[in-house]
Amino acid sequence: MYDVLILGGGAAGFYAAIHIAEADPKLKVAIMERGKEVLGKVKVSGGGRCNVTHAEFDPRELVKYYPRGEKELLGPFHTYCSGDTVAFFEERGISLKIEEDGRMFPTSNSSQTIIDCLVSETERLGVKVFRNSSVTGFAKLKDAAQDANESWQVQTIRGNYSAKKLLVCTGSNPKIWGILQKLGHSIVPPVPSLFTFNIKDDRITGIAGVSTPARINIVPRKSHLDKFQAALKKHGLQLSDLETGGALLITHWGMSGPGILRLSAWGALFLSELDYRFSIRVNWLPAYHEGGVLKQLQQIKEVEGKKTVLRTKCFALPKRLWNSLVKASGITEADKWADIKKSQLQNLARELTACQFQVNGKSTFKEEFVTAGGIDLKEINFKTYESKRIPNLYFAGEIINVDAITGGFNFQNAWTGAYIAAQGIAESINA
Ligand SMILES: Cc1cc2nc3c(=O)[nH]c(=O)nc-3n(C[C@H](O)[C@H](O)[C@H](O)COP(=O)(O)OP(=O)(O)OC[C@H]3O[C@@H](n4cnc5c(N)ncnc54)[C@H](O)[C@@H]3O)c2cc1C
Repeated sequence: MYDVLILGGGAAGFYAAIHIAEADPKLKVAIMERGKEVLGKVKVSGGGRCNVTHAEFDPRELVKYYPRGEKELLGPFHTYCSGDTVAFFEERGISLKIEEDGRMFPTSNSSQTIIDCLVSETERLGVKVFRNSSVTGFAKLKDAAQDANESWQVQTIRGNYSAKKLLVCTGSNPKIWGILQKLGHSIVPPVPSLFTFNIKDDRITGIAGVSTPARINIVPRKSHLDKFQAALKKHGLQLSDLETGGALLITHWGMSGPGILRLSAWGALFLSELDYRFSIRVNWLPAYHEGGVLKQLQQIKEVEGKKTVLRTKCFALPKRLWNSLVKASGITEADKWADIKKSQLQNLARELTACQFQVNGKSTFKEEFVTAGGIDLKEINFKTYESKRIPNLYFAGEIINVDAITGGFNFQNAWTGAYIAAQGIAESINA
């Protein structure tokens, strides 16, 4: 009989085990992990460097990076935020560095540093870790109505275990979600988040690698207007929610970069409903609107009449992109500004500020995928991460319906949830 069984030896499971054992060293705590190795995702995270958290230390700002969980995480982040994560690792001799974009990594640049720290802490604190122990089921040992001190029984491929408290940290495992559903929890259907857009279009063919700041909007295709409107309504979204700014990277298969990834995360459910077939409108000159650009082009035409359009540098745009947009406006390589018709100038202004592309499908971003969906947030008490439906059952990490954009925020959700669940469990056992 354990005091606490933790299902899943990932980031959330290990972090919770350490904090439970620290809160009360007398408690018998064990982790059940299906794999031969623990902390498998930590190992591969951040390209092997582990983007542990993000240098955003204000809870009100931090929540803005979570398309699902923004409202619910505000309280938890006031209790345990990114600064606490940094302190946890620093107290254990692991310094973290901040990169220019705010991402934080161990200064060793190796995820193994984080793994070694978490594993050695569980060893020091006497937490038992069962590897190769896939959990196949769990249930209350006695009927809640008959026994207030009921405990949990957990079935694994290696045998059965029992515990007073159960903390489920199995990430995005559909089988565990299925078990929880049978126990009475609602699961928001999982869909991918953080993906890049597949686009086949002459305007971006052959210019992979170009990166430039842009404003991007998701817009309906004329042929799918009804479906688009219905999906917007279903997810309570406005068109303005599907707009973002940021660097846009042209790739061999379409578009990527922070702006596109942000849209993929915020629009994850909505875009899945559209089967990833929609259009985007790109403003390559986010400081301008179409009318303003047209005026500028007319002035350039007057002043630079003898120059070829292609060779004139008039906006801060990568040259390969400028060439491509000029050609798409019906202007040839030899055309001089003086030869350009009004309609061609209008085309060019539109290509520069309202350039429409059809998206047909998605691709995984650098193998870093995150799943939107999971345990319905309405069914979790965020003061303790205990289930509101089933007493003595707790959750932390990716298993709940929280996900974030790339940058260390997904791990922060795991650290925060694990810490608070650990305090909730230790307090309730000792109550
Ligand atoms: C390639 C990649 C790179 C990433 N890089 C980053 C990054 O740099 N920064 C960041 O913030 N986020 C990153 N993420 C996201 C981040 O890894 C997850 O959000 C985080 O690992 C979630 O932690 P977790 O403990 O909830 O789940 P997981 O880390 O998925 O851990 C769940 C554990 O439960 C175990 N398990 C599942 N089912 C069972 C079962 N039935 N019985 C027993 N054990 C079971 C699994 O084997 C696993 O060890 C990355 C994701 C991927 C895929």
